[in-house]
Amino acid sequence: MAVPLLDLNAQNLAIKSELKAAFDKVLHSGQFILGAEVEAFETKIAGMVDVRHALGVSSGTDAILLALMTLGIGPGDEVLCPSFTFFATAGCVARSGAKPVFVDSCPVCFNLDVADAARKITSNTKAIIPVHLFGQAAEMDAVMALARQEKLDVIEDAAQALGASYKGRKVGSIGTFGTFSFFPSKNLGGFGDGGMLVTNNPELAEKARLLRTHGAKPKYHHKYVGANFRLDALQAALLSVKLPHYQEYTDQRRANANYYTEQLSRLSCATVPDPSGCKFRISNPEHSASLSRTSGSSAWLICPVAYSHNDHIWNQYTLRIAEDEQRDVLKNFLAKRGIGTEIYYPVPLHRQECFANLATEPAPLPNADLLAKQSISIPVYPELSRSQRDEVVDSIAAFQESRKH
Ligand SMILES: *Cc1c(COP(=O)(O)O)cnc(C)c1O
Repeated sequence: MAVPLLDLNAQNLAIKSELKAAFDKVLHSGQFILGAEVEAFETKIAGMVDVRHALGVSSGTDAILLALMTLGIGPGDEVLCPSFTFFATAGCVARSGAKPVFVDSCPVCFNLDVADAARKITSNTKAIIPVHLFGQAAEMDAVMALARQEKLDVIEDAAQALGASYKGRKVGSIGTFGTFSFFPSKNLGGFGDGGMLVTNNPELAEKARLLRTHGAKPKYHHKYVGANFRLDALQAALLSVKLPHYQEYTDQRRANANYYTEQLSRLSCATVPDPSGCKFRISNPEHSASLSRTSGSSAWLICPVAYSHNDHIWNQYTLRIAEDEQRDVLKNFLAKRGIGTEIYYPVPLHRQECFANLATEPAPLPNADLLAKQSISIPVYPELSRSQRDEVVDSIAAFQESRKH
């Protein structure tokens, strides 16, 4: 039985008539950019993530760029961000003219290592971008403490984490800005590109609103050099149709993730990390030793964990295969059985060709390197059937068997 990594039709065709009605409504309105549909959608997202201001924008990438532009970050400035993330996080920093400064990640929760961020602060550091990777919040108490101490702005890249929370607070509402994406593979997947920028700061919201439309107020009077970062009415209308289903989608993802962890943890090769919190420190030799293999066991399949203080929304269910080269062997093994997987992300950003000019010496980011070699994401989308989940689990069990010979 084939199990694709993602099946957009399974979700979208189930609400086909509602989507068509929304399309018709926008078609007849004749209003295609911003306007009432976008405002209604912004209000819903603001309520959902518990912020005062939400601006519909052209993509998750543009939301990050717009946040940086609104903060006036540019040449001469440094912005801390993880190396193990999607390219957009650092790409936007570079496009603003500032320098991305790469920070290592925790190999258990895949998120920014705040102690490493603290070591990389200079007099030019202006901001930090924690990414809530794969749908789980970064360690925001530590991020905010560092930001207060060093007077940094915080842009939460919540592209993968709409509706996730950290100690009861919605991600995107904790920092100066939060950014979301509606790229089709995100948990609230749109019908093209789209994103949202959120903040609780009214002055910053107002400035971002101007920058979203070429910095003009009124029309043709340009206070700032902005750009076109606007969301389409059609996109907002279609996404609004999906919103009432969002909690159900999230619950199904969570059920799939819990099922995987429960089933996979029975395999002798598997281990599930401690959910009590991110205690990992690179400086701790015991932890360093555990990077390749979990100490004292023969486990090489490391399940992802949702920390007990987090509400994880499972954009990805990402395993680590802690044996040299075996991650790619598993990927091929599953592909032969019709199971889709993806490597998020095969090359950490500090090793990207376009950033080769940044480092004076190769930055030691051992965990980012390790995660790029070991991570593999398996299908966790809401519409997976019970037998599809079992197919994935059985195939991983068969892989374990195949390695015993
Ligand atoms: C998807 C994603 C983005 C970019 O969003 P787009 O809407 O594709 O531009 C930014 N950061 C992270 C972590 C993402 O996963």
